[in-house]
Amino acid sequence: MTGNGWHDHVAAPGADESWAPLAKAARHAAVSLGYPAAPCLPGEPEGATCDHGYADHALAYLVALKAIADRAIALLAPPPGLADDLYAGVAAELAGWDGRA
Ligand SMILES: [Zn+2]
Repeated sequence: MTGNGWHDHVAAPGADESWAPLAKAARHAAVSLGYPAAPCLPGEPEGATCDHGYADHALAYLVALKAIADRAIALLAPPPGLADDLYAGVAAELAGWDGRA
């Protein structure tokens, strides 16, 4: 889907499809954590698709995961700074990862 501005970089032929594995994995993770994500990715059963592309879905599912993680971390109530320190370590590990197939 085009026209939203933020993801014009996926307008090139085949670019949106490069986000398919991340969209599917993020949805699987969200559903596994209890978030009710509909099966509406491109190419899914007739009548179920919502006309948004893989990049749109990847963003929506990742935002859901972020909200789930924020909520779960708040419920765990770790000591001040611990979650931030752990986050910084994971972010450093992901420095070369681009999320696409
Ligand atoms: Zn959808």
